[in-house]
Amino acid sequence: MRPFSYLRPASAAEAVQAFAAAGADTRFLAGGTTLYDLMKLRAETPAVIVDVNALTELRSFDTSGADELVFGAMARMSEVAADPRLVRDYPALSESLWRAASEQLRNMASVGGNLLQRTRCAYFRGGEPFACNKRKPGSGCGAQEGINRGHALLGGSESCIAVYPGDWAIALVAFDAKVDVLGPGGERTIRVEDLHREPGSTPHVETVLEPGELILRIRVPATALGRASTYHKIRDRESYAFALASAAVALQMDGDIVRDARIAIGGLATRPWRVRAAEQALIGQRLDSRAARAAGDAALQGAKATRENSFRIELGARTVADALMIAAKRGAAK
Ligand code: SF4
Repeated sequence: MRPFSYLRPASAAEAVQAFAAAGADTRFLAGGTTLYDLMKLRAETPAVIVDVNALTELRSFDTSGADELVFGAMARMSEVAADPRLVRDYPALSESLWRAASEQLRNMASVGGNLLQRTRCAYFRGGEPFACNKRKPGSGCGAQEGINRGHALLGGSESCIAVYPGDWAIALVAFDAKVDVLGPGGERTIRVEDLHREPGSTPHVETVLEPGELILRIRVPATALGRASTYHKIRDRESYAFALASAAVALQMDGDIVRDARIAIGGLATRPWRVRAAEQALIGQRLDSRAARAAGDAALQGAKATRENSFRIELGARTVADALMIAAKRGAAK
């Protein structure tokens, strides 16, 4: 075991100060459902851990606001998923949480930490002797010619095609959510859509967060589109599995005509992927299975398959189409 120091600050400001004083080889510890795993695999080897679980200021959430929904970063996934207002008015947000992980993990994992979970790429998690630019920059990418059934079709590069594994961020991107973060330079706000980077030539740099920046809260603008929404997730088994393809969809309907649409896809790209071309293809159209499928095809435009994952282009398009029909049905039922 590699020794590390453990700090448990009493406020977010103290946590950020502690991180800055400890240096770059430091990690914040939230629910621990990712970090402990990666430490056991030696994919993460921090010298200092700053545990933010005592920060009660980050635990609460409020879904009753007229202008926005606010989720403290340390609210537990299971608590937020079960919130009656979220279930009724924003089913896509609730579903994206309860369709993730297992019940035990959802009881521990935080909604802020969930945004930062790292890839499930087996080469990254396996380490030596496998080549992985994310784990060891410059070493190569074992997945390009290796086992890549679950890898990304959108947003990849020659350096890395690891898929972004989360669900919650996909739904947040569909709803134009933002995160407030606190760092040594003060507080700033980032759109969730801008939080994750495509790998380019630096796949080890996964987000736009500066070292030592802590997510304080997530804010989602209130919208009438929430009720006719869904998070549709297709996976190899019914629970406790990552998405082969997923879609967060929200609609505003006028009869069977689409007045407004939000579509983001997951399990298919290197970061949460909003597909505005698919939204534009739908707005003003009568929503039937043909229009839904056309939007699905638009969502997967530019997809680049590897040896093992071309089937997920068709699967992704169908997932979007099915999600649209589910959301429309919910809208009609209100
Ligand atoms: Fe590493 Fe990315 Fe290649 Fe996976 S896809 S082996 S994470 S560089």
